Amino acid sequence: MGKIISIINQKGGVGKTTTAVNLAAYLADSGHRTLLVDEDAQGNATSGLSMDTSRFDATLYDVLIDGVPAEEAAYRTEVKKLSLLPASIDLAGAEVEMVDIPDRETLLRRVLAPLRDRYDYILIDCPPSLGLMTVNALTAADMVLIPIQAEFYALEGLSQLMKTVQAVKKRLNPELELLGILVTMYDGRTNLAVQVSEEVKKYFGKKVFKTMIPRAVKLSEAPSFGEPIVRYAPKSKGAAAYKSLCQEVLKRV
Ligand code: ATP
Ligand code: MG
Repeated sequence: MGKIISIINQKGGVGKTTTAVNLAAYLADSGHRTLLVDEDAQGNATSGLSMDTSRFDATLYDVLIDGVPAEEAAYRTEVKKLSLLPASIDLAGAEVEMVDIPDRETLLRRVLAPLRDRYDYILIDCPPSLGLMTVNALTAADMVLIPIQAEFYALEGLSQLMKTVQAVKKRLNPELELLGILVTMYDGRTNLAVQVSEEVKKYFGKKVFKTMIPRAVKLSEAPSFGEPIVRYAPKSKGAAAYKSLCQEVLKRV
């Protein structure tokens, strides 16, 4: 059975999508059948893996709302062993439409269930909110990975986030585990980044990944070419960081 890992943080722009895309690509690159589910209406993970998003006839919206089987919406990507379940802007309306669905918190878990034995890893890139989409991602997941940007305010909102994780664990998904905390956009030349990463370690201890993702221009350029870093700039420092994260994740799982 494949492991489902949700990448969450309600704070915007902390590196969720960059982490989802590049971790998924390295998991695939190291031989694991991997599916990336784009659960954000912004569709950043979708465009980050594909230059031509118009080729996707079915998206997560159709799967959640119109009952299209998830396997019909899982598309191969340029990376061997990596597939994508894309998002489109309609997904923005899905939360409202889901309100009338019974057991709406478990919808994603149910639609992904038939895919579990087809993949070794399923990663879910969440939107920046703790709303119904993120609750669905937590309910579907075996494990959660939380990226934290090494910036001022990084820890703000974290207790709210951990409360949500605990609430879902208690009420909907007792098996849910914290896979790890990832410090992103780290710039060791600034005192602030060093201080924030120390704070994060104080708060989360061993749960913090040893790998920290540096601020790296290549990581921010790659999405505009629809490529993960393993294809766009495999020798860059951003690539080395995500490769090392992938190895840590494989060890922990
Ligand atoms: P949102 O909450 O909007 O979904 P997010 O948490 O998914 O955002 P990303 O989209 O991954 O965050 O990153 C935000 C921005 O920062 C993007 O422009 C991305 O290219 C850039 N970025 C992410 N990680 C890095 C990094 N390590 N170095 C440089 N730029 C980065
Ligand atoms: Mg994102």
